[in-house]
Amino acid sequence: MNITVFLGAPGSGKGTQAKRLAESQNFIHFSTGDMLRSAMKAETDVGKKAKGFVDKGDLVPDNVMIELIEAALTGIPNNTKIILDGFPRTVPQAEALDQKISTAVNRALYFLVPEKDLITRLTGRRVCEKCGEPYHVESLPPKKEGVCDKCGGNVIHRKDDSAEVVGHRLQVFHKLTSPLLSYYKTKNRLKELDGNRPIDTLQKELVQILN
Ligand SMILES: [Zn+2]
Repeated sequence: MNITVFLGAPGSGKGTQAKRLAESQNFIHFSTGDMLRSAMKAETDVGKKAKGFVDKGDLVPDNVMIELIEAALTGIPNNTKIILDGFPRTVPQAEALDQKISTAVNRALYFLVPEKDLITRLTGRRVCEKCGEPYHVESLPPKKEGVCDKCGGNVIHRKDDSAEVVGHRLQVFHKLTSPLLSYYKTKNRLKELDGNRPIDTLQKELVQILN
């Protein structure tokens, strides 16, 4: 497999970019956030284990996340191009991927966005409950308020995008996930991108980097 990891704080836009790449290029996009939310909704074992952590804005423990991602990657053909979004989030998770040749990470892209812009982006973020399509109250509203353009599902303000939880999520990100940047940097697999640009501009650059 050819695996690219998308790294960035919550609100850095990596999920939106990954979704677009999956639609326009032949990438498979694994969003562990979406995977977790559907597991919680379906009340699977992993979902039940994860729920308490997600609701508080904390990271789900490594063993639960590794279980989730290993199940998702099992049986995927070798020549598949994959974007991992939301995983790994910690160094032990990154090491778990690199331990197997089939899941070793080829490159990590870091989406850099200043803190104040992250907060604006996150608290204004909305998402389709049904298909996961992202929206934003200012920059990317659905055509009809509260209704998903793609599937007609409810567009909601997620609990973990509320102002109280957002500050905490950013702290958790910096404390626990920043070491990942060093991890990939020392392995010469890290590329930093200016994430504070229009969605289309950044998408064009990504297509060039990944092809
Ligand atoms: Zn939808």
